[in-house]
Amino acid sequence: MFNVKDKHVLITGAASGIGLGLAEHFATQGATVSTVDISEKNPNPSLGLNHFKADVSNSEELHSAFESAVKRNGVLDVVINNAGIAIEEGAIENADISILEKVLNINVKGVYLGIQNAAKYLTDGGSIINTGSLAASVTFPEYCTYSISKSSVIQMTKNAALQLGNRKIRVNSVSPGTVLTPMEAESGDEARISKTCTALERPADISDLIGIYHFLASDASRYITGIDVKVDGGWSAGVTNKA
Ligand code: NAD
Repeated sequence: MFNVKDKHVLITGAASGIGLGLAEHFATQGATVSTVDISEKNPNPSLGLNHFKADVSNSEELHSAFESAVKRNGVLDVVINNAGIAIEEGAIENADISILEKVLNINVKGVYLGIQNAAKYLTDGGSIINTGSLAASVTFPEYCTYSISKSSVIQMTKNAALQLGNRKIRVNSVSPGTVLTPMEAESGDEARISKTCTALERPADISDLIGIYHFLASDASRYITGIDVKVDGGWSAGVTNKA
């Protein structure tokens, strides 16, 4: 029941970081993997990834990427709406409103469109997994726009789970804490902050996330829908007092 071999998995934001790690994992497990990213370059052609360029916030581009993936590789079994950005906008009184628009456009509209296309192209019994964030439940004041966007992802997940349940399509989200990817490397300090804020005293590697996405993609999770799984090393469990 954990087998993902022969499933067709489409992953957005798959040219880098978590999405690329997932694409490589599913490909090595024997799945057919379609990757979608704003970056044009196939992130790993040697693994047989089928790459499609699209901005997830552009409805025509995203629709065309889904359509091409299905034309090339057949009906979809799993869609992972993973593309997202984080921009530190600082204090709300001085924040540049274009940051709010940009973050919501990619993180909220992009996931909404991803769910819409998944509903169109997924086989009955398929699985949608949206990448949320710990920032939806733990407040990081300088990242208000990011937190709003990821709270929306969790709400969309629940809503879509209710709407698509009659087709046995399951919709869940995964909310990582700090993961050492290019996105986090830009802000620095992750190791120090994670040491004091998590029970496990370290940030996640991409490999720490693979298991939960694999589980939610596989039939082993066939009665699980509408949930958010936090993969945060215990950060959301409370304050650790290890500073
Ligand atoms: P990353 O920057 O390494 O990768 C993001 C990918 O998304 C890139 O390949 C980028 O080109 C692509 N992308 C960005 N905008 C896009 C758009 N408009 N259309 C299509 N593709 C686009 O980041 P990551 O850390 O791997 O993040 C992946 C997801 O995980 C994001 O949704 C992020 O919010 C979430 N997340 C990351 C962390 C972390 O600590 N890294 C923590 C919690 C949640």
